[in-house]
Amino acid sequence: MVSTFSFACSACGKCCNSPPAMSLPELFRHRDRFIGCIAIGRVPRKRLGEKLRVGKYETVLDETDVAAFDAIADTLLHRAGDTFSLTTQGYDYPSLARCPALEEDGRCAIHFDGKPLTCEVVPLDPLVPDALQHLVLAGRNQSAAYLGTDCIQEGDRADGKLMVAEGRIEDEAARDALARRRESLAAESKVWGKAVFEALRKELFESPAALARIPAGSFLSISIVPALLAVAGVSARCRQLSLDYIDSQLALIERSIAQALLRRRLDDRPITQELRAFAGAYQRAKTILAVPVRPGDESSNPSQVSEVEAYLSGADC
Ligand code: SF4
Ligand code: SF4
Repeated sequence: MVSTFSFACSACGKCCNSPPAMSLPELFRHRDRFIGCIAIGRVPRKRLGEKLRVGKYETVLDETDVAAFDAIADTLLHRAGDTFSLTTQGYDYPSLARCPALEEDGRCAIHFDGKPLTCEVVPLDPLVPDALQHLVLAGRNQSAAYLGTDCIQEGDRADGKLMVAEGRIEDEAARDALARRRESLAAESKVWGKAVFEALRKELFESPAALARIPAGSFLSISIVPALLAVAGVSARCRQLSLDYIDSQLALIERSIAQALLRRRLDDRPITQELRAFAGAYQRAKTILAVPVRPGDESSNPSQVSEVEAYLSGADC
């Protein structure tokens, strides 16, 4: 079975149908455009001999495949029985069916000004080993967002760049973007992911009733505040960056809800409620962060302080 795919993006914007996953520094940078949240997903652990099938493409996982999935899970995911992804992400009304950066002409407003790494990685998936990216492309080729766009094509095509061939990512720019997104996810895990996972371990990850709130094949969206509190504790500068972010987000949420009320759509109501809950969590976080820092509250590790401050300022994103 051929596992070669070519890719040619015409920037039609069809796959820009919702806000993308973004790192915390990316959200800080685009604080007036994207409402941030934490998206929690379940990532089933792969087993030896498991069949992965997408249409006519089928792979039976061998030891190398399982080891590659495990290596990704060990650095980018979190384990408590099952395996979970915790990523920061843009949040918006699904009824709009568009990313807040998508222009009327289908172009990306931030293409040359901090386009999220997730979008650079399209159409690949950083949580899938390189050798199996052809399954990702086969799946996306059949998904609604890409249907009719012809941007992903089987085989080595003259009208596109060769993306994957026989278990290798052939395109250098795509390989580089994938490596950078994986590095970014590892940094996110280190800077706030592990702390948030531990904070939620009992009430969410070890509670079958709470876990039922994670929709199958989708994400549970929660307030981004736990991630902000994790980084705000590192230094006074991180605390201030978090407070500045919160103020911008409160104003953006207010604008977003005001526009939704004008649209008067029933299906917007649950999202408006969620955004009001996000705003409430931000107000409570402001109260927590307004308490003066006591000696010993912040990190005493100078390299951690400078690393996280540089990270949040976008130096590493
Ligand atoms: S659907 Fe395909 S062609 Fe259109 S923007 Fe997305 S990747 Fe590019
Ligand atoms: S940020 Fe740009 S490329 Fe990414 S989903 Fe939005 S419009 Fe598309």
